[in-house]
Amino acid sequence: MASINDSLNWPFFEVPHRRLAAEARDWGATNLANAAHPVDRAGVDARCRELVAALGKAGLLKHCLRAADGGASAEIDARSLCILRESLAWWDGLADFSFSMQGLGSAPLTLAGSDTLRARYLPRVAKGTAIAAFALSEPEAGSDAAAMQASARRDGTHWRLNGSKTWVSNGGIADFHCVFARTEAAKSRPDGSVAAEGISAFVVEPGDPGFAVAERLDVMAPHPLARISFTDCRIPAERLIGAEGEGFKIAMRTLDVFRTSVAAAACGFARRALDEALKHVMERSMFGRKLAEFQLTQATLAEMATGIEAAQLLTYRAAWLRDRGERFTAAAAMAKLTATETAQTVIDRAVQLFGGRGVMQGEVVERLYREIRALRIYEGASEVQKLIIGRELLK
Ligand SMILES: Cc1cc2nc3c(=O)[nH]c(=O)nc-3n(C[C@H](O)[C@H](O)[C@H](O)COP(=O)(O)OP(=O)(O)OC[C@H]3O[C@@H](n4cnc5c(N)ncnc54)[C@H](O)[C@@H]3O)c2cc1C
Repeated sequence: MASINDSLNWPFFEVPHRRLAAEARDWGATNLANAAHPVDRAGVDARCRELVAALGKAGLLKHCLRAADGGASAEIDARSLCILRESLAWWDGLADFSFSMQGLGSAPLTLAGSDTLRARYLPRVAKGTAIAAFALSEPEAGSDAAAMQASARRDGTHWRLNGSKTWVSNGGIADFHCVFARTEAAKSRPDGSVAAEGISAFVVEPGDPGFAVAERLDVMAPHPLARISFTDCRIPAERLIGAEGEGFKIAMRTLDVFRTSVAAAACGFARRALDEALKHVMERSMFGRKLAEFQLTQATLAEMATGIEAAQLLTYRAAWLRDRGERFTAAAAMAKLTATETAQTVIDRAVQLFGGRGVMQGEVVERLYREIRALRIYEGASEVQKLIIGRELLK
């Protein structure tokens, strides 16, 4: 079965990718092998702060940024993002989360921020001394993000924001949030949907007057998550990211970069489940032999391994296409759809192979079972990925 290190012989990779994979593997073995997996809110918050600082110190967060902003390479390299996410997810979902959110939460600034804004936030993101968040979704605007209602109104040298954002990862511990809000009233399209124009992006800090963490949210695989609110929240005019009205495009470009990396994280979770399952079936005895000796078991393992390799191929193909500057929208959607759905099935099968042990709290496969679920929903649910692929096919 190909681990990431075996698959590095694929033509998608270059020498620096092979080096990075070895570095990530060694860093994981040293820093994450005995990782704590807290489930209480205070423990999770503290662990995420610790992880961001450690990833920054190790220089790994540089791969979320461009060299001009303290990053590793001239442009964000999708294959490096994927290698790191796959490796971190194999060890620890929170490590993958902490890494990926530094990228997702800062990408609007990377893609469209002014020199002043980039200099203020991005070098600290790379060092792990500032925690980033991306606030697009609202209670009534998830897949249909353009239906958002949060608003921003110019007030002399400032903007005033009103409304709320939900499911904000890192909400509650973030040092800054890239927030999307309407600067023009929503316009309906003939089919009744809301047009994406008139949305702008801003940076909001927790100390800004009128900002509040309205509610902390608890999910099955705990990570810092919150609903944040803005009540006449006053921020300086310079905190606008890019041009007024460009916010939706900035949000979509951000998701485009990171969608493939979600697929990579799913591959990491799935590979860990297979590794755990292989160990288990070779140790577990029943009916006078090892569980591994039954052909039914071997068929299950074969399907798990084949699914993972197919998902890895799609993932790294999509990342490679993006790094080459080619069209990759459908490839990224195929990768996310296939990798997250496959990983869910693979992990479920690993739990089944473990029998009762598989659902015990504290078992790796039980943790993976909880960790994989949200990946099929966020950054475009599986159904949305199918819509994207369909649209690209019909173009
Ligand atoms: C753990 C977690 C972390 C998150 N972190 C962030 C974050 O950091 N920042 C942020 O902004 N958001 C975040 N989100 C929000 C996430 O992006 C949304 O949950 C996601 O976009 C789906 O929106 P929704 O939950 O409103 O579901 P809905 O949009 O209500 O979707 C419900 C169902 O309808 C399906 N559906 C959608 N469109 C169609 C269609 N055209 N036809 C048929 N079915 C359709 C969906 O696929 C889904 O199955 C996070 C979510 C989770 C679970």
